[in-house]
Amino acid sequence: MAFSPTPFTATVLGLPRVGPNRELKRATEAYWAGTADADHLHTVGRELRHTHLSVLAAAGLDSIPVGTFSYYDQVLDTAVLLGALPPRVADIADPLDRYFAAARGTDTIAPLEMTKWFDTNYHYIVPEIDSATQFSLNPAKLFAELTEADNLNIPARPVVIGPVTFLKLAKHADGAPLDRLAELVPLYRDLLARLASSGVEWVQIDEPILVTDLSDSELASVRATYTELAARTDRPAILIATYFGHTDAALAEIAATPVEGVALDFTAGTTVDAVASVPALSHKLLVAGVVDGRNIWRTDLDAALSTLGSLLGSAASVAVSSSCSLLHAPYSLAPETGLEKRLRSWLAFGAEKVDEVRVLATALTRGTDAVAAELRAAREAAESRRTDPRLHDDTVRARLAALTPADSERGPAGDRRDKQRTELNLPPLPTTTIGSYPQTSAIRSARAALRKGEIDQAEYVTRMRAEIDEVIALQERLGLDVLVHGEPERNDMVQYFAELLDGFAATDNGWVQSYGTRCVRPPILFGDVTRPTPMTTDWIGYARSRTAKPVKGMLTGPVTILAWSFVRDDQPHEDSARQIALAIRDEVLDLEADGTRIIQVDEPALRELLPLRSAERPAYLAWSVDSFRLATAGVADTTQIHTHLCYSEFGGIIDAIAGLDADVTSIEAARSHMEVLDDLNAAGFDFGVGPGVYDIHSPRVPSVEEITTSLRSALKAVPAERLWVNPDCGLKTRGPVEVEASLRNLVAAAAALR
Ligand code: GLN
Ligand code: ZN
Repeated sequence: MAFSPTPFTATVLGLPRVGPNRELKRATEAYWAGTADADHLHTVGRELRHTHLSVLAAAGLDSIPVGTFSYYDQVLDTAVLLGALPPRVADIADPLDRYFAAARGTDTIAPLEMTKWFDTNYHYIVPEIDSATQFSLNPAKLFAELTEADNLNIPARPVVIGPVTFLKLAKHADGAPLDRLAELVPLYRDLLARLASSGVEWVQIDEPILVTDLSDSELASVRATYTELAARTDRPAILIATYFGHTDAALAEIAATPVEGVALDFTAGTTVDAVASVPALSHKLLVAGVVDGRNIWRTDLDAALSTLGSLLGSAASVAVSSSCSLLHAPYSLAPETGLEKRLRSWLAFGAEKVDEVRVLATALTRGTDAVAAELRAAREAAESRRTDPRLHDDTVRARLAALTPADSERGPAGDRRDKQRTELNLPPLPTTTIGSYPQTSAIRSARAALRKGEIDQAEYVTRMRAEIDEVIALQERLGLDVLVHGEPERNDMVQYFAELLDGFAATDNGWVQSYGTRCVRPPILFGDVTRPTPMTTDWIGYARSRTAKPVKGMLTGPVTILAWSFVRDDQPHEDSARQIALAIRDEVLDLEADGTRIIQVDEPALRELLPLRSAERPAYLAWSVDSFRLATAGVADTTQIHTHLCYSEFGGIIDAIAGLDADVTSIEAARSHMEVLDDLNAAGFDFGVGPGVYDIHSPRVPSVEEITTSLRSALKAVPAERLWVNPDCGLKTRGPVEVEASLRNLVAAAAALR
């Protein structure tokens, strides 16, 4: 090795940025709205960075990530760093406005696309790269943040996303993603040289793409890239960081390069044996992600210490870390005074995770006696969790154990179709919507008033029923065929059910960034799931009482409830999914018994949980499809089951969609021009299908002509008796005026084609 950097002992891989009280969200939205200026936004950003760095330094971490702050997204920041913003924003002179234009678009500029960051619920901005892209290094942001850290005397470790991950995540107009590596490597080398000359000792280069399946030639490129980057001596020590999975064959490739450190995720499949099998690691710093950065459970410190102890012999030194950036965890348990005490003692949010890192690193360097009290407290919490009766409901477990495959089977699809046709007597090309109608300010203020105790439950129900009345009347007026109640009572399609099911808890302030300024507050699934009372029958029954037309009952599916919650780590996801499925099944049957003939079980997240490694996908698809079927297969053949999937790229899961055995599936197809229908046909799918005929993500009202054209192209792939007419997603984020105009055109287009 050309030089020997001082190894550090305690760190995290990245920091959140929205602020403990979503300060950055507010400041950014105020800037967008024009009610605050850029100075204000920059001040809020600087104060948050200051707070984050100081808190971590005070907590005793001896290497602190710098540069993971972002005004929107870290991949977009990397596009700026590498001079890879699309030409369509180049004319915007102000760098901040240019940045936001790339992220969100303007009146005249289309934004970059957004997609999920690996298998998390965070969404990143997808850079666009084509032959005109000329990369250039713009490290101003990183150096400005480093200067701030220096001024605070922080032991800073700059963080950048690596070239392989960046290129693999970008959208390329032509060529293979890694064709452009040769252009990026000199930029990274230049960056490293500049970091070294400003006194940086360690740099973290994030390459999470190494936990996905890479071809042999891609693996060879990874090795060549880091061999080249590490060949020079005018650079800091390099830590290659991976997270969200195990590195498999990539580990030996990076270990074979002269980089000084590797960060591995021991909460997501990396094993002590995998590390021991790569002798080249014995010269490197191993940053062991033993504190789960993306779930909320308190770490089993004894188990983590035993992992760390076993690793000591396989690396030159071992540092303790979170498994990934703390971006994916809520800030702190401190404001969660509403959580029941026992449950609260089982949890660790961001601040508590940082302390776990400190405790583990102290135990490793100074022995367990130095942290005996902390280890004891963790043991007590683990024992309290293990023995809590709510984690083990014999009734639910016995019911699940008694199920047979027949419980997940319905009658033959053809028979169902005939019986439903008689039962429902719908016109050809039936029109419907995906469930939600605009969440008006009246709805939001009623919910706030209920929460603050200003109105009682009875008054709340009265107000929600008034909303349902309006939505039903609107649908009657428009002439839709299958009506919905509009979901006014649901703050969120997962949280609503989590609040009504036993086994889930909600937080007051457990916000996690989902994308840009959007944050979500995932519920915590901690115990066995049971349904104390029906959750939707009153609302749906009320809606049915207001119309002679069929009303579709709306539920969220088990996979989506699981995907958008913090989930149990003490049993397989599959077991949790089956418990939720059983609760939803009971709800489905109650709706049916109550007279609801059409029931939609939404699974917009089915594809999100798809494992990063292809070898793990069949097992996932088997249990996820099975849990949907368990939730829905209890109904009579005459009852029509719908589902809604929130995407149109079915690559790899097309068979699973047919496997759901739903009578009707609505999908997001408006933006993908219906190609998806051909894919479904090729997979032998012959159920009802409602490819969204207009894009609800845009405020634009589609014309009758446009919708007719969409429907005509759909009719080329799907016979009229299977085709449904609907928007491509729920309408809750849209305004009432556009919704009414759009749906009027949708109904007119269907009528014209009939
Ligand atoms: N039924 C839900 C709604 O209409 C579906 C939302 C979704 O697909 N994410 O809002
Ligand atoms: Zn949707």
